[in-house]
Amino acid sequence: MNDASLSRLPQSFLSLPQWNDWQWQVLNQIRSVADLDRWISLSVEEKRAVQNSAGRFQFALTPYWVSLMDPDDFFCPIRRQSIPMDEELRVHPYEASDFKASGIRAANGRLHHSAADRAELFVHSQCAVYCRYCPQRKVTDAATGESGSRLNFATLTDPEWQEALLYLEKHPQIREVVITGGEPLLLNDEILRRIFSGLKAVPSIRTLRIETRVLSVLPQRITPELARILKAVQPVYLVAHVNHPREMTREFCEAARLLSEHDVPLAAETVLLKEINDKTAVLSELFFSLYEKKVRPYRLRHCIPSQGTDHFRTSIAAGLRLIESLRSSLPGLALPEYVAETLGGKIPLRTESVLSRSRKRVLLRNHEGKVFVYPEKVFQVSS
Ligand code: SF4
Repeated sequence: MNDASLSRLPQSFLSLPQWNDWQWQVLNQIRSVADLDRWISLSVEEKRAVQNSAGRFQFALTPYWVSLMDPDDFFCPIRRQSIPMDEELRVHPYEASDFKASGIRAANGRLHHSAADRAELFVHSQCAVYCRYCPQRKVTDAATGESGSRLNFATLTDPEWQEALLYLEKHPQIREVVITGGEPLLLNDEILRRIFSGLKAVPSIRTLRIETRVLSVLPQRITPELARILKAVQPVYLVAHVNHPREMTREFCEAARLLSEHDVPLAAETVLLKEINDKTAVLSELFFSLYEKKVRPYRLRHCIPSQGTDHFRTSIAAGLRLIESLRSSLPGLALPEYVAETLGGKIPLRTESVLSRSRKRVLLRNHEGKVFVYPEKVFQVSS
């Protein structure tokens, strides 16, 4: 917990023994200006943006995550990631309303056969905290559940689960299933146990991977029981989404240690975010600290050009410069790959994968030699 926030936290919360109970944290998610105002000093813009985004974008924060915020600093990297700003409601022409990567979809879209040997299983669509740069925060049509590449109805249903298993059995070339969401670890232990054992019962599935944000926003979820469940289904890799060194609290490190003691290999994915972590010093500290805690920095993702996220995006040129400067200051094992998520899958951003650049567009080549047009961030010079 951030010391600066202690003085402002409602004392009634601080003294609660339930603070370390992940289900209590979820039940007490902060979802309104009135609730948030009790914890931090909100700016006029933040209040307006939270209210104006209602009905278009999801907004929820765990009390734990709010406790990491600097209550008086509008530029605090924790609050910038999760409290809306006016820019979120401005849609730029290049920002997609729908971000559907190529691949085959089965089980009502819950299973995405995204690469020859890999499939993603969307087990749960809700999140503990909604990150303002993520397409998943979009409120979708309840009737259709469509939300870009994701779905907006909570948990995988039984028929969808059976259909997903059937698809996996019929496609033995799939060796790995990536369990994702929303936040897959919001599901309770019993459901997770059932999903893991069902997947491991498919003879061709050799590895599982879980994509999660809980180490940063809800580290209480990594309980000794969950660690034991994960140990029992080895090999299961856990990829934690972490964006800033301030997320690496005592609770984060304790959760990482518990997983590591249970032989769960840990990796980290980071989203490159303008004015949050787009400095060599910030990323160098983040990646080295992760490496030190035995969490391998795996991927630095360029912020997806989804609606209302322009203010979070740097240019690819700036990202390439950053990764080059990190290359000289970090051990190779602590240096993640910089990637862009495109309709043709994730493309590593290296100088040689960038075919050409103009003010508005970058031409990228993927591993198959296919070329994709990717929007470049256009900087306006203010007068
Ligand atoms: S980044 Fe992860 S936790 Fe954040 S909104 Fe997206 S899916 Fe949810």
